[in-house]
Amino acid sequence: MNLQRPNSGDVTQTTNRAKTVVPSSGLCTRCLDGCTGNCEIFQATMRGRELLYPKPYGELTAGADKNYPVDYSHLNIQGYAMGAKGLPEGVEPGPDSALFPAVNTEAEIGYEHKVRMRIPVFTGALGSTEVARRNWDHIAVGAAISGVILVCGENVCGMDPHAEIDRNNKVVESPEMRRRVEIYRRWYEGYGDLFVQMNVEDTRFGVAEYVIEKLGVETIELKWGQGAKCIGGEVKIDSLERALELQRRGYLVTPDPSSPVNQAAFKAGALKHFERHSRLGFIEYESFMKEVERLRRLGAKRVTLKTGAYSMRELAMALKWASDAHIDLVTIDGAGGGTGMSPWRMMVEWGIPTFYLEAMTYELCQMLAAKGAYVPDIAIAGGLSTEDHIFKVLAMGAPFVKAVCMGRALLIPAMVGKNIGEWLKEGKLPKTVKQYGETVEEIFVNYEVLKDKYGKAVDELPLGAIGFYSFVDKLRVGLQQLMAGSRNFRLSTISRNDLMALTEEAARVSGIPYVMEAYREEALEIINA
Ligand code: SF4
Repeated sequence: MNLQRPNSGDVTQTTNRAKTVVPSSGLCTRCLDGCTGNCEIFQATMRGRELLYPKPYGELTAGADKNYPVDYSHLNIQGYAMGAKGLPEGVEPGPDSALFPAVNTEAEIGYEHKVRMRIPVFTGALGSTEVARRNWDHIAVGAAISGVILVCGENVCGMDPHAEIDRNNKVVESPEMRRRVEIYRRWYEGYGDLFVQMNVEDTRFGVAEYVIEKLGVETIELKWGQGAKCIGGEVKIDSLERALELQRRGYLVTPDPSSPVNQAAFKAGALKHFERHSRLGFIEYESFMKEVERLRRLGAKRVTLKTGAYSMRELAMALKWASDAHIDLVTIDGAGGGTGMSPWRMMVEWGIPTFYLEAMTYELCQMLAAKGAYVPDIAIAGGLSTEDHIFKVLAMGAPFVKAVCMGRALLIPAMVGKNIGEWLKEGKLPKTVKQYGETVEEIFVNYEVLKDKYGKAVDELPLGAIGFYSFVDKLRVGLQQLMAGSRNFRLSTISRNDLMALTEEAARVSGIPYVMEAYREEALEIINA
């Protein structure tokens, strides 16, 4: 069985000429000499490396479409006809007390300085890609008013064209980073937090010193990797001057903008973009421990770690080192995840898919716990978008997994809400929106709730933030329903017993009992009594 077909697709805006295609190669079964396109090879004949990336750059996010042998759809959630775990102390379980809106979805992560969240989800890292920059205000305010964590991704200071960089190549001021932090702060209400990510270049630029000392950021996230790719963050640059400036700042820029050949190709219009890449990390125990210590000395209240879909060896390092360093949260991002810009074939073909990665994480955390070691709070990311994903991820990784990171799923409502604002201004609402009305009050189901809470200030909320809030509300209520059905009235009572595996392979990978085995002993005891 073929799990993914190469050589054409929506992501690269390509198609096969023929109706029948060889599954493994993606080439048309009859490739005609004289074909006028439009597969990836046809396009790469002219545009070469441009075909590595989803397009149009800056206007999209992309997610891999490989159909992995096992994923979370291979689990179902158990339901029970009696009981209610986790009701507030003193409340007697019964039909009048165990109502689904009474389910508490509040979560907490962290070692010493805890962060509370209204629901155990947080955003993917929005870094220096154009799509992240354009949607920042919407998603940041949305995260603040929804009470969830917001992650500012890598390279924001280094990419800021107005950043002041001193003689030692350290950032002194970054208006873009300041703007990002300040807008989140303005709407922050005690739930959630703003994490700022650091990669190799950010560390060299002294980003941690800047955001902690000058902007009062409390949480720094060390980045080892992400699910969408196994090379560092990338963006496209469509100005020669900017490409040269970023090269001067120390970034890897390809093709080399200093080369007269590439400058000529750019001026002629054949070369349309340069690419800015980050460096590969080289993890090492001693320097990791020293860096965590240094960040704490600088004043970081929390230090978290984000790692990607690397091998089980690196996963074990992440967990063991995080345990030794008392890291506050480890986010583990599996393959199948999304991105603003990653090479398409890499996104599809590299890394351990999320389901398998979580199964490994559970096993390794259990081993740490059995030794009596500190087990850091864990978050799982990579292709997750629904309330049932939240339930399944928390249950499968219980009691270690405390939250779910959603990249694209949380960016979309911010983007859609922002666009509704634009369409309203232009008087060009599409039918899909117009069906609910032609004013903000009519379109957004939660507008009145927010107006009641914020009064006149509701009109200062970016519409993308209202969209974000509405989507998180859907996740929260949906999660309450699933939790009530499985008789869990708080997150801490959710356990692996609340899941069944629908395929024997999923049972073998995850250790979750196969559907025909789950609760069998209890059932037989009842029948034989
Ligand atoms: S060149 Fe044309 S015929 Fe050949 S594989 Fe590509 S789309 Fe098909």
